[in-house]
Amino acid sequence: MDFSSVDRTIADLETCLDTTREVSPTEELLVGVDLGTAFIVLVVMNSRKEPVACAMEFAQVIKDGLVVDYLGAMTVVKRLKAQLEERLGRELEKAAIAVPPGTGESDCKTHGYVVEGAGMEVTNLLDEPTAANAVLGVQDGVIVDIGGGTTGLSILEKGKVVYVADEATGGTHLSLVLSGAYKVSFEEAEEIKRDNTRHKEIFAAVRPVIQKMATIVKGHIVGRNIKAVYLVGGTCCLTGMETVFEKELGIPVHKPANPFLVTPMGIALSS
Ligand code: ATP
Repeated sequence: MDFSSVDRTIADLETCLDTTREVSPTEELLVGVDLGTAFIVLVVMNSRKEPVACAMEFAQVIKDGLVVDYLGAMTVVKRLKAQLEERLGRELEKAAIAVPPGTGESDCKTHGYVVEGAGMEVTNLLDEPTAANAVLGVQDGVIVDIGGGTTGLSILEKGKVVYVADEATGGTHLSLVLSGAYKVSFEEAEEIKRDNTRHKEIFAAVRPVIQKMATIVKGHIVGRNIKAVYLVGGTCCLTGMETVFEKELGIPVHKPANPFLVTPMGIALSS
């Protein structure tokens, strides 16, 4: 798959973390809120579906897709919303949200209450890999979204989601392993892991967890005629993930240049 246009749009979105594009006072804005285990991300796109502003914060208020600190989550979303409103000179009134596949109804509602509590009407709620596909446009294959807490996947056939699954292994587990191996705090381990220049050095230590993620995916796709796997989510930024997956699954594994912001952008596009 040619990811060049996806890569360009995501690179464009990345620049919107620091810069803000002008928007007219009346045009419709698409807003996505990604309430993640590790990061809460707000993305704003204009009516032409171009990124205009983005803000994010590291927060441990969600665990394995469930809101464990409602007030904390609402406070972060409120803060990010206020930041973006100030930058854009526009009020953000509506947003789409996404949850890991298989999240129960009452937990979905709680995600919605967080965003509503922060002052936005929730216009759409979808699962994370499906949100990612609003950016990728995969017709046939599996989208695997590995975030902080979970490995989620959506199997697509002719552009339709036919199967979803989610299991509690994600980037947090890699950081815990690194924290033990390097005898540093969890926060320091997170920093080391997110430093792309250290990926080669840490790979041997985290490989067993990556192997486990690949085995999880294998368990869900075995017996199906899957032609390709698409990796998204912050954890897939790890250099060499795709090689472990390809070896375990025996099918081509594709990854955009920056898999981190794909799902948040897809949520905004689905608003
Ligand atoms: P979930 O989807 O599980 O609820 P989330 O939405 O917070 O969690 P993402 O924002 O997609 O997940 O990814 C967060 C994870 O990605 C964290 O564990 C973070 O440490 C990891 N991560 C972010 N950037 C990098 C990087 N450059 N290298 C390795 N890991 C990274």
